[in-house]
Amino acid sequence: MVPPVRFNPQAWLAEARALIGAAHVLSADRGDDLSACTRDWRNKFEGPALAVLRPADAGEVQSLVRLAARTGVAIVPQGGNTGMCGASVPTAGGPQAILQLGRLDRILEIDPGNNTATVEAGCILQTLQEQAAAAGRLFPLSLGAEGSCQIGGNIATNAGGVQVLRYGNMRDLVLGLEVVLPDGERLDLLRGLRKDNTGYDLKQLFIGAEGTLGIITAATVKLFPAPGAEVVAFAGMSSIGQAVRLLGAMRARLGERFTAFELMSGEAVELVRSHFPGTPAPLEGRWPWHVLMEATDGGSDEALREAMQAALMACLEDGCLEDVVLAGSLAQGQALWALRENITHAQQMDGGNIKHDISLPISRIPAFVEQMLPRLLQAFPGARPIVYGHLGDGNLHFNVSAPAGIAPAAWQRETDAVNQLIHDAVAEMRGSISAEHGIGQLKRHEMALYKTPAELEVMRRIKQALDPQGLMNPGKVL
Ligand SMILES: Cc1cc2nc3c(=O)[nH]c(=O)nc-3n(C[C@H](O)[C@H](O)[C@H](O)COP(=O)(O)OP(=O)(O)OC[C@H]3O[C@@H](n4cnc5c(N)ncnc54)[C@H](O)[C@@H]3O)c2cc1C
Repeated sequence: MVPPVRFNPQAWLAEARALIGAAHVLSADRGDDLSACTRDWRNKFEGPALAVLRPADAGEVQSLVRLAARTGVAIVPQGGNTGMCGASVPTAGGPQAILQLGRLDRILEIDPGNNTATVEAGCILQTLQEQAAAAGRLFPLSLGAEGSCQIGGNIATNAGGVQVLRYGNMRDLVLGLEVVLPDGERLDLLRGLRKDNTGYDLKQLFIGAEGTLGIITAATVKLFPAPGAEVVAFAGMSSIGQAVRLLGAMRARLGERFTAFELMSGEAVELVRSHFPGTPAPLEGRWPWHVLMEATDGGSDEALREAMQAALMACLEDGCLEDVVLAGSLAQGQALWALRENITHAQQMDGGNIKHDISLPISRIPAFVEQMLPRLLQAFPGARPIVYGHLGDGNLHFNVSAPAGIAPAAWQRETDAVNQLIHDAVAEMRGSISAEHGIGQLKRHEMALYKTPAELEVMRRIKQALDPQGLMNPGKVL
């Protein structure tokens, strides 16, 4: 990052206010409370901001980025600030301004004939889901933060969520992008094409880049026919190997209709039940592992329910599961989903935990979990693993809560040692240390450990080519 010469914050703020209006440039010196933007969702990272900038459209984003480039001020793009890796808040260092996309929230077009929607980056995910549904279409990205995260943030993190099994992650859902580059140039890649082999696919650079290469201002995304029928089931089993066999068997029987397959350990379910009193126990017995499954299609509820029931009965006979219940109503299905979605919140309420977001070839997950659990407990006696995640995508949140009686701060001091144990084992099995949450500040120092020098060098060259001043979200990813 180039340090600004004789930088004058007041003059800078005045220029920014002249560009987008005084009401949309928040700063601490005039008494604005910036804390909701300068601190991340997990309360783990906080950094000082020269200002919070709230432009109204892509043109204003360009003006602000040009001002920042000319004056050597770094820009931190921010969507809903629900990210898990501290990527959306400033780091210490030279002056950094948070650029909040929330006012770019319009849905520009829903094209049912092309099955696409074109939206501004600040559109809340849930708003897009609702507007797509009103047009008889499905926008399938779905995750626990959908009421506050934004499409731009979803793209910048290549978000996953609970329907990747059927529809893929955000990268698979994006057809076109509009991006403001670090020099203020606007790159118009906003096309709704499913086929376009005209050289390098530039939009892919910005998907998952965590705002380090430019600011996404709009996107064209895929929609799908809205499913008419939906069936949710919850199963219990003794081993994770059974859960993996269940996945294979259900996919073979239900094919494309099988949309979600979420794993929860017995401890994860109990944690939710202890922090959210009134959460029902879906099954009578207590099982070491549970799976939440969903199937959807365009037919009738009855026909889908029958197909799901038949598939589950066959799996029960084959020993892939030991108990199962089908949601009898929409409300029951939603209660089962709430149990899954509340794990993140329950962990937050529970205090000290060390989070992991790993992915592995699905076939290797049983061996990984069976080897890792005893190794973890041997190295950290009393540690409480809370394992859950998107097993259908090979993605586990292999989180580790503090042993009883250990203060959260003391447990956090073990983070590097716990990470090393888990991430080394993941790397040995050719897995990833970040399946869907990204790198941000949290895992930046681990990139050198788990990426090859050649991978890192190519990333650095791309960063240097697009952002030679290093002003776009510094201190993140690389
Ligand atoms: C309860 C809960 C459940 C979650 N579940 C999941 C899950 O299942 N799957 C999953 O993948 N994630 C999950 N997350 C993490 C988070 O919601 C996602 O990473 C989400 O995509 C972040 O979107 P956001 O708008 O909040 O982005 P932010 O947190 O604001 O930003 C994230 C990153 O994107 C960059 N960014 C934001 N907007 C732009 C833009 N317009 N242009 C360029 N860069 C930008 C930021 O600089 C930062 O690097 C969950 C979070 C919570 C709190």
